[in-house]
Amino acid sequence: MRSLSISSAIAACLVSPYSLALDAHVHGAAVLEVAKEGGEIEAVLRSPMANIVGFEYEARSAEDKATQANALEILKNANNILKLSASA
Ligand SMILES: [Zn+2]
Repeated sequence: MRSLSISSAIAACLVSPYSLALDAHVHGAAVLEVAKEGGEIEAVLRSPMANIVGFEYEARSAEDKATQANALEILKNANNILKLSASA
């Protein structure tokens, strides 16, 4: 059975926005790495926080925390951001 998983890298990025903010990055640019091994496909999305939630400071307000939590829930489900072709 083919399965698709998103690396925990996304979760790490969302949980630790400062670590991302310290790295050189370009707003509006993201990298999606996809690898296939056996029957599994793994995808890693690397993106500045600003691309995903609209801010890149530590979420402190209830609104920002909700935005971050919602984004994480969406990204944790690979089917929300990737569609495999029937032949993949
Ligand atoms: Zn930035």
